[in-house]
Amino acid sequence: MAPLDPHSFSDSTNPPTTDVSLSLYFDFPSATIHGVAFFILAFPYAGQLSFDTRSLTIHQVLSPINLSPLPFSLSSSPDPIKGTQLSIFLPDDDDTAFNSFFIVFSTSPSSTALQWLCPPQTFNKKHPFVYTQCQSIHARSIFPCQDTPAARIRYTALLNVPQELSAVMSARHVGRRPPVSGEGHSHLLPNGFNSLWSSETRVVEEFLMNQPIPPYLFAFAVGELGSREVGPRTRVYAEAVNSVLDAAAKEFAGTEEMIRQGEKLFGEYAWERFDLLVLPPSFPYGGMENPRMVFLTPTVIKGDASGAQVVAHELAHSWTGNLITNKNNEHFWLNEGFTTYAERRIVEAVQGEDRAILNTGIGWKGLKEEVEKFKDNLEFTKLKNNQQGVDPDTIYSEVPYEKGFQFLWRIERQIGRPAFDEFIKKYIATFQFQSIDTERFLKFLKAEVPGIEKDIDLVLWTEGTGIPPDAYEPVSDLYTKILSLANEFKLGRMPREDEVADWRGQEWELYLENLPRVLKASQVLALDESYRLSESKDYEVKVAFLQLAILSKCRNFYSEVEKTLKEVGRMKYLRPLYRALVQGAGKEEEKILAKRVFSEARECYHPIAQGVVESILAKHI
Ligand SMILES: [Zn+2]
Repeated sequence: MAPLDPHSFSDSTNPPTTDVSLSLYFDFPSATIHGVAFFILAFPYAGQLSFDTRSLTIHQVLSPINLSPLPFSLSSSPDPIKGTQLSIFLPDDDDTAFNSFFIVFSTSPSSTALQWLCPPQTFNKKHPFVYTQCQSIHARSIFPCQDTPAARIRYTALLNVPQELSAVMSARHVGRRPPVSGEGHSHLLPNGFNSLWSSETRVVEEFLMNQPIPPYLFAFAVGELGSREVGPRTRVYAEAVNSVLDAAAKEFAGTEEMIRQGEKLFGEYAWERFDLLVLPPSFPYGGMENPRMVFLTPTVIKGDASGAQVVAHELAHSWTGNLITNKNNEHFWLNEGFTTYAERRIVEAVQGEDRAILNTGIGWKGLKEEVEKFKDNLEFTKLKNNQQGVDPDTIYSEVPYEKGFQFLWRIERQIGRPAFDEFIKKYIATFQFQSIDTERFLKFLKAEVPGIEKDIDLVLWTEGTGIPPDAYEPVSDLYTKILSLANEFKLGRMPREDEVADWRGQEWELYLENLPRVLKASQVLALDESYRLSESKDYEVKVAFLQLAILSKCRNFYSEVEKTLKEVGRMKYLRPLYRALVQGAGKEEEKILAKRVFSEARECYHPIAQGVVESILAKHI
């Protein structure tokens, strides 16, 4: 047994799955999906195959030839990080080793990838909603698989849902139609769901993904969805509420321009469509780069097109992350460092250099803080790190994003932008649809840029801890001005109204993040009195301010903190607010507040966010 990935039971001696066909019956009342999956392996195989599962019931594994049961077993107790190992025993008695088989399975309500929302938790309050978040290692809680990005799969899917709902996926939509009895081997479904498949209250939404993707990019959402056309290859989807759809269409009107800029920089857009799905507020991330159908938090809709930066990031993943993928999470910087670099190049082309530098400056501050946060665990300040026995959700940080960005920016400065642009294009063309590691990248870099290791300490950058001395803080007039205003605040001067008149969210975010971490309560109150930051519609600003208020123990704002923690589930906001409440000494009142708010808000968070908040509370309470 040779493991491929510290987060998967997949065995490198097993053939990888190349294709999977799924028939999924969505049972909303029990928050369960019953499924039949047909797997095709890269080559015929006899013996034991290892798959990943989490919180799944495996009913049967069946032969592709006569549907006879094949032996399988599940590990007796689940690994807290990897879940439960499914071992399938493929026979070789007839000299005809199989290269395919069926698995009949059901999810459970505790599937970590799925959030099931009951009608009151949705915008329209009328229908239920379910959506996925599979990164990093949650696809295994929807269907059994070799849940490692090293094993790329194509898939087809029949989603059987109530007819008043519709579905989207990270795949081509083939069609919506009445279900057909027995299609997709749905006659194998357990517990009577085989006969319910073709009930007249149901509809089938059919999808095809014929480009090989890592399993973490498997995605769907089912609910009462509407959409608006915003470009020749872009529709924005959301719950069918006109105000939400209109606001989203306005916010993302510039998407086609960004795709064109991306194509100029990185080569042709490979995924045909670039649709966007705005999810309910519980979505745990800013965005998720699911191919063909990016998932977004509604908090990016700010009414001033600034949400476009999150879209720029998810779009950039179309090249870096989705086309070229990290082989496992220990090389996550290959996904996120490249994408942060690519995002800023797109922002620079579309919104100008000042905006891109503000974005870099906020990232620089974030990187310094993350490195400080990991001072007792420096392993996770390395670009390439050891994640054996480590849950990727609990060590998620800005390091792979911002240190990865800094590394690539350092190479750009060394060889010049034109040469670096050519390098990136060639890198993408060379490794598209492959999953690679840091060593492959470095080998390619050294081959393309001979002697680079003499100018840049590549080992220090990829294997060293902390921030290398040749990392670089950005410079621009606007950036410098904001930092000097933040410095003046330390001397007691608040910015004048004329100085902040044209500030948008990013300017405020940068300003607030560069203030001392702890202020006098009177200073926090004065800031809010002048600029109403606690009521900002921009969550980046609001959360940066509330974090400052908590750290300064300015309790006037705790009701706003509670409200914020209850209305959004984006981990970018939950992490700093909960952490500010529970970290450090003398926080008894804050800890009680954090515990109570979490117990009341828990059900509104996606399971991944629930786990992350639990681990923050467990560490400090
Ligand atoms: Zn990303």
